[in-house]
Amino acid sequence: MSEDAPAIALRARSIEQSFGDVEVLSGVSLSVERGEVAAIVGPNGSGKSTLLNVLAGIAASDDGSVSIPRGRGGARSVGYLPQRPAFREGFSARDTLGFYAQLLDGDVADDVAASLDRVGLGEVADRSVGSLSGGMTRLLGLGEAVLGDPAVLILDEPGSGLDPAMVERLFDVVGDLAADGTAVVVASHELPAVETHADTVHVLDGGTFAASGSPAELLAETGANSLSAAFLRIV
Ligand code: ADP
Ligand code: MG
Repeated sequence: MSEDAPAIALRARSIEQSFGDVEVLSGVSLSVERGEVAAIVGPNGSGKSTLLNVLAGIAASDDGSVSIPRGRGGARSVGYLPQRPAFREGFSARDTLGFYAQLLDGDVADDVAASLDRVGLGEVADRSVGSLSGGMTRLLGLGEAVLGDPAVLILDEPGSGLDPAMVERLFDVVGDLAADGTAVVVASHELPAVETHADTVHVLDGGTFAASGSPAELLAETGANSLSAAFLRIV
């Protein structure tokens, strides 16, 4: 991490988004620092993916602003892992990342090797993506998202549908990326993993953050003994 990069990696102010008559986000603000893992938790349909898409710049919001101060010289600003990453079958993991790396500036071979290494897929780099397990496919999606070393990483339910060991492995990788200075925003239903790995947790409910704080703060606030129990007291 360079000394002069700003501490705030992402700042969203008063994000509002409606679909037809339904107001999904009614003024959501969020700041994430470099090296921070910020988790967005909330019931199904509470607007997590909608918020992440706005933060990632994939969708425009009705109102509000998102700013991502330039943190690192020439680095890609945002990496995004969609809820259901899909890769074209018949190509190896390495060639798949090579395809995406080409879309970015930089040294493709170095970037691909570094990404595979960061997500722990070096050993299966030459296997066809169709032969990878669900967890490895998600790790490959994470590898695609970290190509070009983005300052901000946005992950939409990276653990959904995976077994607990793979969820832990994924969150371990996320923790390593944050330790290297990446700001991570992750939507997740895996509350035990969130409790262990997130620095801050934002509970999205009713269009706003019903609670925000470190896992320990949310436990203290609700008198619960786990984040899962705290969550149920908040929503
Ligand atoms: P979450 O990710 O928390 O499950 P979403 O952000 O996917 O929630 O969805 C929030 C709400 O917005 C849901 O009611 C969903 O049906 C609605 N929604 C999301 N995207 C669209 C869209 N493009 N058009 C209409 N409604 C949408
Ligand atoms: Mg979603």
